[in-house]
Amino acid sequence: MRHRKKTTETGPVIGEGWQKFATFLTHAGRQTPDQKGSFVNMPVERGSTVIFPTVEEMEAQGGYAYDHQLVYGAMGNPVQHRLEQVITALEGGSHTQVVNSGLAACSVALLAFLKAGDHLLLPDSVYGPTRRFALGTLARFGVETGFYPPRADEATLRAHIRPNTTVIFAESPGSHTFEVQDIPLIARMAHGAGARLLLDNTWGIGAFQPFTSGVDVSIQALTKYPSGHADVILGSITVQRPEHWQALRRAAIELGACGAPDDCWLTLRGLKTMAVRLSQQARSAYELAFWLESRPEVARVRHPALPGCPGHEIWKRDFTDASGLFGVELAEGITQEAMIVLLNGLNLFSIGASWGGYESLVLPTSGGLTRHHEEGLPKGAAFRIQVGLENVADLKADLARGLDGLKR
Ligand SMILES: *Cc1c(COP(=O)(O)O)cnc(C)c1O
Repeated sequence: MRHRKKTTETGPVIGEGWQKFATFLTHAGRQTPDQKGSFVNMPVERGSTVIFPTVEEMEAQGGYAYDHQLVYGAMGNPVQHRLEQVITALEGGSHTQVVNSGLAACSVALLAFLKAGDHLLLPDSVYGPTRRFALGTLARFGVETGFYPPRADEATLRAHIRPNTTVIFAESPGSHTFEVQDIPLIARMAHGAGARLLLDNTWGIGAFQPFTSGVDVSIQALTKYPSGHADVILGSITVQRPEHWQALRRAAIELGACGAPDDCWLTLRGLKTMAVRLSQQARSAYELAFWLESRPEVARVRHPALPGCPGHEIWKRDFTDASGLFGVELAEGITQEAMIVLLNGLNLFSIGASWGGYESLVLPTSGGLTRHHEEGLPKGAAFRIQVGLENVADLKADLARGLDGLKR
């Protein structure tokens, strides 16, 4: 693939989508102005037991707490509730449940909407641990899982849906292979079959508005850009309809899923600078992706804003921006071993899982991916790049030195 695009080196849209969030994010979740003489940020309140002056007042709080009441630490805390309000506004939903990790957000949401005998559809490009949860725990509890090609058209989707399909899960773009999914189409197909559409919206935070596209439940790993500093593990699940909130809240309470006050507080702080971080990281990522495509050592770059990425047209239609995570497939003849020498030799990119922090990372992606449908798999040696806040010229020089030194 050597498509030469009309887009400029900095990209036609990169950076703009995030700006509209800057004012919102800077103000969201702060102390209210009527709290004269208080600090700008709310305090961290840690706690398990909530105490009441009388038995009557304690009993008045009893039962399932569907709202943001303070009942017991496992049902939420003041900082968690504040973060839930901010994520709700960011996603455009009505209620959010924060849980202790992004993976827990996926598993709690699935448990809330599935029962024994149901059929679940996952995209073949789904985050690996979500796949393992479905094939492990959900299978043990009598839920069967099928895998659909992430870029399935209407007929293919119809062929995968069964009478007992109650949840269709989506993740756009896909983990490691970056296929952009046609969410409005999948939503229409799901609702036509009486199923719900759950979306892992981690990559698209802010650039994809899930509920305007028919999504019922939007999930995020807050571990990534929202916390943004590689020091928090946290997840969120957002819904828009009251009946979905009741099902979700009930599952979260029964599973004891909640977010620790310190982690929620760090995420609230991270959100304050997310627009400016994302804007910078998206711009740098696009510049690196565009440049990498022109390198002879590179066969293909999987970045939704590049025309060669599967689903690029849908990204243009549905997303206002891109984030700073993308995939690189090396040219034929470059071995996995040679790629590992390249990755090991980089100075500014650490090797590690996760993404969305301020620091640049690389991760090999060829070799370890599981797919039912072969077309998603990279043909050559491949790796993933998370672009951090370093100077982009320095990052480019580091990668150029690595590519120059590649032995074929
Ligand atoms: C990282 C990630 C998760 C899991 O988040 P954790 O907080 O690390 O458990 C889920 N989905 C996607 C798409 C992710 O990238």
